[in-house]
Formats: sequence, C-alpha cells, structure tokens
Amino acid sequence: MKFDKITMHPEAGNATVCRECPMCKKKSHFIVTTKEAWEIIDRTRGLNTKSVQDILPNHTPTEREILLSGFCPRCQEEVFGKDEG
Ligand SMILES: [Zn+2]
Repeated sequence: MKFDKITMHPEAGNATVCRECPMCKKKSHFIVTTKEAWEIIDRTRGLNTKSVQDILPNHTPTEREILLSGFCPRCQEEVFGKDEG
C-alpha cells in the first residue's frame, strides 16, 4: 500500500514516511510502526485529532517536523535554529 507520503511494509510490520524538502528538494525519510502509520494516515484524513507529538512520542523533534513540514534536518536547522532538546 502506498499513501501520499507513507509506504507500508506489512511483511516488516513497519512503514516509511518520506517527504520532499520544500526548500532544497532533498528527500527525508524515517521508519514508523504500522500502528503509527495508520494514526498518521487517519490524522491526514481528519479521522483523528491527535497531535503528531502524541502519535510519535518516541521520535525526535526533527523527525516529527519532517512529517509536518517536510523540511529536511539541514533546512530545519536553517529555518528553526539548532534543536535545543
Ligand atoms: Zn532541505
């Protein structure tokens, strides 16, 4: 199954989130569990109102920002400044 920015890997029990950076067009990706992937997809469809922080509490702020805005880690540093956490 392939969604807008998520590719499911049922055999591995996980999925890849992939976004193209709006600034430099570099593609960034990270792995989430199948459950997390479905929560992201439901959120995209407006079927839940969870925040990305609630869906991916164990991922880094950089990864959550990739999901939200697509900015690659390098451009995030330029736009938002260094990660303080
Ligand atoms: Zn970038």
